[in-house]
Amino acid sequence: MDVPRLIAAKRDGRRLGADDWRAFVRALTRGDLPDYQVAALLMAVYLRGMDFPETFALTGALADSGERLSWPGIGRPLVDKHSTGGVGDNLSLVVVPLLAACGAAVPKLSGRALGHTGGTLDKLEAIPGFRADLALAELSRILADVGCFIAGHSEKIAPADARLYHLRDVTATVDSIPLVTASIVGKKLAAGADTFIIDVKTGRGALFPSQPRALRLARWIKRAAETAGRRCVCVLSEMGSPLGKKVGNALEVEEALAVLGGEAVPEVRELSLELVARGLKAAGLAEDINEAREKARRKLEDGSALEVFSRMVQAQGGDLAAFAGRKRGGARTGELKAPRSGWLRRLDARNVGRAVRLAGAGRSNVEDRVDPEAGVELFAKPGDRVTEGDPLLVVHASTEDKLLAALGELSGGVTVGDEPPGPRPLVRRVLD
Ligand code: URA
Repeated sequence: MDVPRLIAAKRDGRRLGADDWRAFVRALTRGDLPDYQVAALLMAVYLRGMDFPETFALTGALADSGERLSWPGIGRPLVDKHSTGGVGDNLSLVVVPLLAACGAAVPKLSGRALGHTGGTLDKLEAIPGFRADLALAELSRILADVGCFIAGHSEKIAPADARLYHLRDVTATVDSIPLVTASIVGKKLAAGADTFIIDVKTGRGALFPSQPRALRLARWIKRAAETAGRRCVCVLSEMGSPLGKKVGNALEVEEALAVLGGEAVPEVRELSLELVARGLKAAGLAEDINEAREKARRKLEDGSALEVFSRMVQAQGGDLAAFAGRKRGGARTGELKAPRSGWLRRLDARNVGRAVRLAGAGRSNVEDRVDPEAGVELFAKPGDRVTEGDPLLVVHASTEDKLLAALGELSGGVTVGDEPPGPRPLVRRVLD
């Protein structure tokens, strides 16, 4: 394959045909392409864009880079959930088991941290023993026994997306509507669900902060999914400040367990319930949205979702008792204090996401290992009254240098003023 020709075509803004994309993805999957050529093509796509037919061709090629899983005889509607990426966005850990507790089968492929946003697999791997790289036979058994799994790409499942995903993370080519559409829908098609519920984030902490661009992404994802014959609901949700009060891999698992256990973490609980309700309705597991909301609330409150989560983690090798008993927190911690008294008006999710990455929870190189305990715990959220000198948050990091870098990033992300901020609805729009 003449890769320089493909790179030059994209560099010059020309469209590649479906055959070109299939050949490229095949070579990528075989390991025939060096990183520098793949990165050059990604950057050309990032700068020049792709139209919908070209994006759909890449989507199909990514889905077919491994096996497309199918679940005949599972006997339940197959529903999958994905987020375009946020900060403190641990919703998959609540939504997936809750959907399963409500009668869906949820075969979910997740990703790792991308840009300043967190990754579900990095979070789950904070649980000692948890494995995301499961063989197909194990996935089948867990889906049948438990009702859900959360796994990663593998050599068998969407391997080409794994390679692109890692390279995008370290080449500043993450926030591209065609690349995100192909990555998400390609993975969802490979995992084999019929109904997708996609949480498209908007606001400073999202991959696409502006609402018009987030809406455009939602429309492309929906169109790609529907063109491939799937049902797809996109929920545009607010990501101006972190969703919950804990950001970081182990911290977000703690918070998800708290929500599953009935504790009030308002935004995480509210948005999880809404995503599940939308999924139940779309999959025909509820007659209307009110019945779907009621069903989701009941299964969260009666402990069913927590039970499913515990069984899923155990089936994937994780040890929740060891997680609860681990030495918690970073080797170095430091607080950011309120610079003055007043209302906390802004706690910028992008700064928090970058700070968590600097503290050790993200990667700068494909080979980097993440620190599960690195993260930020918030003591105040926008809309709270604060007093000068009060701690607003604490950072956990593995070294003093990382701690200082994270605190430096955070100090630019906070505004305290004389007026409370205006209301920011959590759900901005639903495309169903
Ligand atoms: N999640 C994905 O799986 N891929 C992206 O490109 C962005 C978010």
